[in-house]
This record gives sequence, C-alpha cells and structure tokens, in this order.
Amino acid sequence: MTKSKILIYLLAFYVLLQFIWWGYQIIDLGALADQSKEDTSRRILMIIGEGGVFILILMAGFWKIQQSIGKEIELSKRQNNFMLSVTHELKTPLTSIQLVLQTLMKRKLKEEDKEDLLSKALSANQRLAVLIDNILNASRLENDGFKPKSNVFPLNSFLNKTIEDLRKTHPSAVFNVDSQLDCITADTYMIETIFNNLLENALKYSGEAAQIEVSVQQRNHICHIVIADQGPGIPDEEKDKIFEKFYRVGNEISRSKKGSGLGLFITKEFIELHKGQIRCENNVPKGTKFIIELPNEK
Ligand code: ADP
Repeated sequence: MTKSKILIYLLAFYVLLQFIWWGYQIIDLGALADQSKEDTSRRILMIIGEGGVFILILMAGFWKIQQSIGKEIELSKRQNNFMLSVTHELKTPLTSIQLVLQTLMKRKLKEEDKEDLLSKALSANQRLAVLIDNILNASRLENDGFKPKSNVFPLNSFLNKTIEDLRKTHPSAVFNVDSQLDCITADTYMIETIFNNLLENALKYSGEAAQIEVSVQQRNHICHIVIADQGPGIPDEEKDKIFEKFYRVGNEISRSKKGSGLGLFITKEFIELHKGQIRCENNVPKGTKFIIELPNEK
C-alpha cells in the first residue's frame, strides 16, 4: 500500500472517531443543560479546542496527501519519458544488428570490412544487454530481490582490466587510476555494476576527450572510492535527484545522450545494500565527482 493511501485511511478513521466523539459530547451537553453554567462553558471550550486541533491535523493531512500525489504525478511523467526513450533504445541497436546481418548475407566483403561490421553489431548488442540488465535490476530491487554476497573481490585487477577495455573503445579518453586496495569484501556482481555505471556515465557525458580519475583508498575499515570527470557537471539542485528512479537532468547535454535514468538509482541501491553511501560533488576545476564510502573490514 502506498504512503498516501495509508494516510488517507488514517485521516478518514480519525475524522470518523472525532465525529462520534463530538456527537456524544453534544448529546451529553444537552443532558448537562440544567447543571452549572461553569461546567457547560468548560465543555464548550473543550469542544472548540478539539475542533481547532482537528482542523489543523486535517489540513496537515491534506497538505501531505497533495504533496505525495504531486510526487506520484512526477514519477508517472518520468516513467512515460522512460518508456519513450527505452522503446527508442531497444529499436536502434536491433535495427543496426539487422542491417549488419543483411549486409553480411547479401555481399562478399573484405575481411577488415567484415570485422568492422561485426564489431558494430557487437557493441549494439552490448548496449541492448546493458539496458535489459538495468531494467531487470531495477525491478528486482523493487521486489527486494537482491541480497549482497560477501565475496573477496579483486578490485585492482578488475579496475585494470576494465580501464584497459575502455581505452580500446574510447581511444581519445584519458584515465588516471590510483588504486591502493588489492581486494574488497563485497558482492562481485554489484561492485562490477557500480563501477561500470559510473565509468560509462563519466565517458558518456564528458564527450570525446574525457578525462577521468579513479581513486581507491582504505581508511579505518572504510573503502573510499572517487570517480571524477571534467564533463559538464551537475547543477547543485539536481545532485540528489539524479539517484532517483528514471531521473535524467533536463539539460540539452543529458537529453542528447541516450539513457534510461536507471543507472545511478541501481548504483545507489547496490551501495546501500552494502551499508555504504554515495554522494555527488562538483569536481575542481570542472565536472562531476562521485564519492563512495563502503564498509570494508580488512
Ligand atoms: P542515464 O541512463 O540517463 O545516464 P543515470 O541514472 O545513470 O541515467 O544518470 C542520471 C542522470 O544524471 C543522467 O541523465 C545525467 O543527466 C546525470 N549524470 C550522471 N552522471 C553524470 C556525469 N558524470 N556527468 C554529468 N551528468 C551526469
């Protein structure tokens, strides 16, 4: 049951109780009519006082309900945008895979052209897989379907391998990695998803010549991770909202990039399942910095 439904039921119950109580008071007041004047005016004052509290609680309740209806409307708008962009995102890679397959069937191509086409189809397939993974993860999170496992995760070698792969697919991007932790105790799948989402975003929003810094340090049983880029940055008033489901910053840069608004939502939820925290800050001199703190006993 949603919060607003519970609130409506509680308010309705309170209104009903209050009316019964007042009905009883009014009948009782009639019976008291011949008793002392002092007693009657004490009763009237009591009813006025209770009426005041009643109206205040009722108004606060309606204000809360209106707020949560506003939030639901906002969420449904975002869901609508999500459906539009996801339908587009599902169609584009499928169309390009189909084109590649048709070309390969119809024509005899040189080996290097074939390789070029196949790598295009592979990256379209990869995009589809990421999108489907995000949708599945978001719906599993909604149903409390994730319980993090305590794996010994080789963070250093994972980072080296991931950055090496990204350097191949994004040759003009610059990566600076300073990782002082060989292993971390965390859920393998979740940690990989967290890093993949943040690194993919840093590359996606910074453009061709992205400059990305990754640092990992262990201090007092906490693993501190920072992923910073020199892209367009995120306005202060949006820094918390970007972690909400389906939320996408409404500026031109964000809208011109493909996305579902699920990546950071999943990232934050996975971090919180590990009892950790993530926040977004401005990078200096420019860009975005994501700071993660994960409990990690050594
Ligand atoms: P999306 O699929 O839209 O990238 P995310 O949940 O990963 O969804 O991110 C939410 C929004 O936060 C993005 O739409 C984008 O506007 C903003 N954002 C995330 N990472 C960055 C970044 N490194 N630089 C600038 N904006 C970012």
